[in-house]
Amino acid sequence: MPKAVLSVDFDSARKEMVEDQIKGRGIQDNAVLQALLKVPRHLFVEPGFLSRAYSDFALPIKESQTISQPYIVALMTQSAMLNADDRVLEIGTGSAYQAAVLAEIVKEVYTIEIVESLARTADSKLKKLGYKNVTVRHGDGYRGWQEKSPFDAILITAAAPTIPQLLVDQLKVGGRMVLPLGKTGGSQDLIVLTKQENGKLKEQYITAVVFVPMTGEIRR
Ligand code: SAH
Repeated sequence: MPKAVLSVDFDSARKEMVEDQIKGRGIQDNAVLQALLKVPRHLFVEPGFLSRAYSDFALPIKESQTISQPYIVALMTQSAMLNADDRVLEIGTGSAYQAAVLAEIVKEVYTIEIVESLARTADSKLKKLGYKNVTVRHGDGYRGWQEKSPFDAILITAAAPTIPQLLVDQLKVGGRMVLPLGKTGGSQDLIVLTKQENGKLKEQYITAVVFVPMTGEIRR
């Protein structure tokens, strides 16, 4: 098939995805909708899954990890209540799709991936696509990114068995942390924690989700 025809197909598939799966399920934040319309998700999936790049599923990537379902990416992004000037930390770069969506909305994105090969691929992909406001680091996200803290928002895109206090410490007052909290194997609670003036967290339940486990130090 000629290349031009293929890219037209991807463009219309992406519009349809936003209409049906994202707007259709109640995501209203315009910046989030625009970002999902823009980021070429087909360039973040494995070649064997190209035809399903805009379908309503999480898909496998290398190293037994996943690229999250588009709706969950949109929901987590909307739940983080982002502003254009924000500095955001993501734990679990994976395919870098969520990082690219964040980069369309906020000023600075820092993302940490524990699997070195994924971090490397993510970094070169984001560079190739021209994202200059994302920095990828290989490492365990458990300890966050002290030098770049405090953050306006932190997204953890792997299932955390407990709330990582070191990450809470790197949130601004008024900052939001979005994470799937709970055991792996079943579903987790997607929650938003907002850091209040007194340092305490306000917790809001969003929905049930299924994520791959957050690994590393949090398990010790
Ligand atoms: N945000 C990703 C979803 C990736 S799946 C996307 O848009 O594609 C979760 C990712 O978290 C996996 O790549 C996994 O390797 C990574 N991960 C798990 N534990 C981690 C940790 N402690 N620190 C950093 N990354 C971690």
